[in-house]
Amino acid sequence: MSYFLKRTENNLWHGKFSSFPEDLIVHAVSTRLGGVSRPPFDSLNLALHVGDERTDVLVNRKKFVQSLGFKISDIVTPNQIHGEKIFRVDKNYRGCGCENYADSIPETDALITDTPNLPLMLCFADCVPIFFVDVENRAIGLAHGGWKGTLKKIAAKTLLKMNDEFGTRPENCLIGIAPSIGACCYEVGGSVVEKCRASFPKNFGELLIKRDGKIFLDLWRANVLQLLEVGADEKNIDVAGECTCCENSWYFSYRATHKKNLDRTGRIAALLALKFA
Ligand SMILES: [Zn+2]
Repeated sequence: MSYFLKRTENNLWHGKFSSFPEDLIVHAVSTRLGGVSRPPFDSLNLALHVGDERTDVLVNRKKFVQSLGFKISDIVTPNQIHGEKIFRVDKNYRGCGCENYADSIPETDALITDTPNLPLMLCFADCVPIFFVDVENRAIGLAHGGWKGTLKKIAAKTLLKMNDEFGTRPENCLIGIAPSIGACCYEVGGSVVEKCRASFPKNFGELLIKRDGKIFLDLWRANVLQLLEVGADEKNIDVAGECTCCENSWYFSYRATHKKNLDRTGRIAALLALKFA
C-alpha cells in the first residue's frame, strides 16, 4: 500500500504516502469532503481564487491545517500559473497567501524549503501534485504539474533546484505523485500532442495513448520519466494511481466539472512540512 486515505479526528480525510517518514515530515492531500462551501465548491474547497465565498474557504483552510497540527497563519502558498518557476521559502514567507490570494508567492508553481514547521500548500483540480522529501539533508519540495508544467518538466527542475540549494541527491530523494487526472480520462488535442512529442522525443509513444480514435496523455508517467532522466530512483517514486476525474465524488476535478457542463469547481490541496531542522 503506497497511497492511502486516513480519516482524521475532525472528520476530514488525509491522503498519504506510506513511504514518507512520519517522524520527519507532515504531509497530506485533502479531499473535497468535510468542508462548509456550497455547490459547486462543495465542500472542502481550499482555494481563494475560484469564486467561492472567502469566509467559507478560510473556515475550510483552518479545519484542514488544524487537522495537521498547524495554524492557518503558518502556511505558505503560491499564485500558480502553470509555469516552471520554483521558489525557495524560509520563515520570512510564513503566512504568504494564507488568508489573501494577493499575498501569495507570485507566479510560482513549486516551493522548496529546509525550514522546519513551515507548511507548503498548493491547490489542485486534476493537475499533478508532486511531493519531494530529502531525508538526508532535511529538505522538502512541492510542485504543481498540469500538462503545461509537466511538459516544461517542473518536477525534474524542482529536484535539480533542491540539489542546488540543499545538496539533495536525486537518487535518494523520496517522491510522491498524488491523485490527479489519469490517462483513463485525460484526452488531449493536437497542440498538446505536439508539445509532448517535443518534450519527450524518445518516450512520447508511451505517454500518448490512443483509444477509440482519441489520444490520452499519461501525466503520471510523464512526471516519472522526467524524474528518472535527472537521476531519481524509480523505487523511491510512489505513484498514487488515483484519478481525480474518475473519483470526482472524492476530489475536485476540472475535467469532470466541464463534462457536466459546469464551469466552476473547488480545489483540493497538497500540504507538506518538515518537523525538525
Ligand atoms: Zn480517470
